[in-house]
Amino acid sequence: MKKMLIVTAPSGAGKTTIVRHLLKTFDDLSFSVSATTRPPREGEVDGKDYYFLTVRKFQNRIKKDAFAEWEEVYPGKFYGTLKSEIEKKWRKKKNVVFDIEVKGATNLKKLYGDRALAVFIKPPSLEELIRRLEKRDTENKKTLAERIARAKEELTYENNFDKVLINDNLALALEEAEGMVRDFFEIKKGTAKKRDNYYDEE
Ligand code: 5GP
Repeated sequence: MKKMLIVTAPSGAGKTTIVRHLLKTFDDLSFSVSATTRPPREGEVDGKDYYFLTVRKFQNRIKKDAFAEWEEVYPGKFYGTLKSEIEKKWRKKKNVVFDIEVKGATNLKKLYGDRALAVFIKPPSLEELIRRLEKRDTENKKTLAERIARAKEELTYENNFDKVLINDNLALALEEAEGMVRDFFEIKKGTAKKRDNYYDEE
């Protein structure tokens, strides 16, 4: 039976770096492409990074009960996991990996129980998290303050998850994350195939 790895974190804790590393290290894992109503960033590919939908289409899918979970992550910006995406990956005999925020992660874990390993990535301290958010030059003062407030709230979600991984030293965090994946998916050391990209081969 195929399973899933849910990686979540407060904004700025470095979950995307960890997810991409795991996808490159274990070719048995496959990234769950979410649907979103936010516009694509430069270099993002529809169907690979996200399924970019209009709000209308997104709401239609909500009505049709097509989502395993969805959240309005920022005002007017919706993000969600399509049930069809999970089924498609499992049909291809892949284990699925999610990079999602804490509320959606909590709901997915509730839904899939023992089939899911939910890992919460934690920054070494709130001060360090604020430093990391400040370093992202995409933030302006208002969104930065919003992100900090949000991150503080998200830190309180830690107890909803199976494992907590402290991202202080990245190399150590990656090693620890690899160990969690090997244990949960029963992958023996040295047997996993690597890939260059974090996308699936078509
Ligand atoms: P970004 O816009 O930076 O790609 O993502 C913003 C936030 O939304 C991140 O925390 C990301 O992990 C989260 N996210 C991405 N996809 C989903 C999803 O399908 N569901 C939920 N709940 N959050 C998501």
